[in-house]
Amino acid sequence: MIRIGVNGYGVIGRRIADAIRLQPDMEVTGVVKVKADYKATLALSKGYDLYSAEKSGKDSFKEKGLAISGSLTDLVPKVDMMIDASPGDVGAANKSIYEKFHKPAVFQGGEDHGVAGVSFVAQCNYDKAKGHSSTRVVSCNTTALCRVLGSIDESMGISRGRVVLARRAADPDEPSKGPIDAVVLDPVNIPSHHGPDVNTVLPGIKITTMAMKVPTTHMHLHSVILTLEDPDASKETITQKLEDTTRVLLVNGKDGLKSTAHLVDLGRELGRPRGDLYEAIIWKDSICVDEKEASFFMAVHQEAIVIPENIDAIRAMLGSESKDDSIAMTNNALDIDK
Ligand code: NAD
Repeated sequence: MIRIGVNGYGVIGRRIADAIRLQPDMEVTGVVKVKADYKATLALSKGYDLYSAEKSGKDSFKEKGLAISGSLTDLVPKVDMMIDASPGDVGAANKSIYEKFHKPAVFQGGEDHGVAGVSFVAQCNYDKAKGHSSTRVVSCNTTALCRVLGSIDESMGISRGRVVLARRAADPDEPSKGPIDAVVLDPVNIPSHHGPDVNTVLPGIKITTMAMKVPTTHMHLHSVILTLEDPDASKETITQKLEDTTRVLLVNGKDGLKSTAHLVDLGRELGRPRGDLYEAIIWKDSICVDEKEASFFMAVHQEAIVIPENIDAIRAMLGSESKDDSIAMTNNALDIDK
């Protein structure tokens, strides 16, 4: 079994830990928390060994009667790999700790590409991570764009992509973040960081992205417009290509799925942990092709979409499984159809 430590037990870290547990070839050696809060209590109740981020932080866990197994520097020597799911830029600061113990580490999309030098989306560049001591799983929006644009580019050629992102303002457990009654250009400048971030994985795609924050917590919504090289591209060929693309789910507005709220409801009914939707979700009946220009709407469950990539990044870096085998194993464990 591959022994993994998870540093940061928030929105992403908790999901990664639970997903590791479902894999046949890896186990969670411990999770790292800063605060002795309800999430620490839940981690212990799930059977995870708990470590504090700082040595000095151990006392606050003991004071609350929470069993603490040590601090981050006690955990790192025990693992084969660390997954850093701490807040953006904190991961870069943690890197020297992993290096000190010669342990490879996976970082998240809140870090710059430079933290690892390899930015990762399993189906696009799995083999690039092999042998690297660090890899960065890109952000939720970048992961969705890479899966979908990479697949379409492969068969039809994209000469230019344009994407407008309506981003959820905050995650559901962040009640003090806004906006609550505004649409905020984020950033005002064009392009937003998403297009350049796509290029860290797919350098050949010309893409311009614009982004705004909207008062919702559950999902991001992308309006995608692609100019294609293939003169024979049609609604049917794009739909078929997306049907065949792993971790892309097509839904229909005419089935009553007309909003992100309906997708959240779908996720809950599918019975997955936390109602998580790991796929990039495209409205099939929005796909439109007009004179080599393809358009569609895509939704991204920000809390969930990067979880399978983190699992694949572990096997990719260690070289323990081929790309196709790892994706199949992860999909199977997380109940992703294809
Ligand atoms: P989060 O705030 O929910 O969780 C981070 C956790 O790390 C918190 O529990 C925090 O207390 C803890 N922490 C703070 N400082 C720490 C330290 N020094 N050492 C260890 N832990 C520390 O954040 P998140 O949303 O899970 O984001 C984690 C990473 O994942 C970021 O890089 C983020 O950009 C990326 N990401 C987030 C989302 C999302 O929608 N939430 C989606 C994709 C990627």
